[in-house]
Amino acid sequence: MNMSEKCKQHVDSCRFCWMCHHICPIGNATGHERSTARARALGISLVNRGAIELDEIMDNIYECCTCGACVHDCTTGWDPVMFTKETRLQAALEGKLPDYINKFVDNCLNTGNAYGKTELCDDLKKAISNHSDKKDTLLLLGVDARFMACKQAVKAINVLEKAGVDFTALETEAPSGWQLDFLIGAANETKEQMNACAKMLNEYKTVVVYDPNDAKAIKQTYKEYGVEVSANVVTYTAFLAQLLDEGKLQANNTGKTVVFQDPYQLSRDLEETEEGRKVISAFADLHEMLLNRTETVWAGNILMAQYLPDVIKEVSARRLFNVTSIGETAIVTASVSEYVALKNVDQKDVEILSIEDLILG
Ligand code: SF4
Ligand code: SF4
Repeated sequence: MNMSEKCKQHVDSCRFCWMCHHICPIGNATGHERSTARARALGISLVNRGAIELDEIMDNIYECCTCGACVHDCTTGWDPVMFTKETRLQAALEGKLPDYINKFVDNCLNTGNAYGKTELCDDLKKAISNHSDKKDTLLLLGVDARFMACKQAVKAINVLEKAGVDFTALETEAPSGWQLDFLIGAANETKEQMNACAKMLNEYKTVVVYDPNDAKAIKQTYKEYGVEVSANVVTYTAFLAQLLDEGKLQANNTGKTVVFQDPYQLSRDLEETEEGRKVISAFADLHEMLLNRTETVWAGNILMAQYLPDVIKEVSARRLFNVTSIGETAIVTASVSEYVALKNVDQKDVEILSIEDLILG
């Protein structure tokens, strides 16, 4: 396989050890050794040595959610997310993507989202129409909220309305490119989508990014790919914390006791751990998960549930078990995708709330 020297070094240097084995949410959900970072490295190294074909490992390559728990845990500094994403790119270039991934890529290119959706729900259209005038601040909702969780997107708008924020919401948003980046890495198509999004963002002074997937892409991946954003980009959670500081969002303790599900994109990638806590603490009594902040465990998402539904349900169920095992009964999310994934588990023991749910009461 045509892989960069840097990635080859990481693949060959990974010790295939057990040190990051226990923290892989996918490996823990499947119970299969093949789902973990070390097995993925081993598979790629076998392809690089010509022992097996790239096609043989592609399903395994798409089992990784790129949560970075292994990267965070690897004391020797190797990066399984980097070599997994480069393998996806290489498979795309060699025409070796699995059919189910090709479908998502085509959807991203044709409709701007992996789900192939083109219509917003009526409630969201109405909520957006109240903010169609051009303001200095843009609320970027993102593809998951707009097309797969429109009630949450409406709530995100309602929270800013409650705080009296003057903002724009768009009926048509340019996708940030995070989905293409997940599917095929740093391909030209991904960068083109990112550049188009940056052009849209740069028409505003401030961009409030609702989905942590978009926030990570815009604040971190764009820089890696040389995509320039001049707007001031803030995460939704950081923006809410700022509104609290400014007294625009009024604290109102609901009397609930909750734990916080740190989105890895915020805590590990963007080093944002306290803003969400600040907001939640203003509306509830915040307790901590055993694995919190940069140690967070990914709780599932919408995109991977399209092709690994049972595995993602198990990922989410295991995170809910983390809640009940410390005697807690409510979890607050700051990622629309994790919210949907957790809600998808058939259970009654844990109340699942978004930050917007908590604020809107
Ligand atoms: S990424 Fe690091 S911790 Fe994980 S298997 Fe490789 S060497 Fe071990
Ligand atoms: S990035 Fe996450 S899902 Fe992928 S191998 Fe590492 S821990 Fe597992």
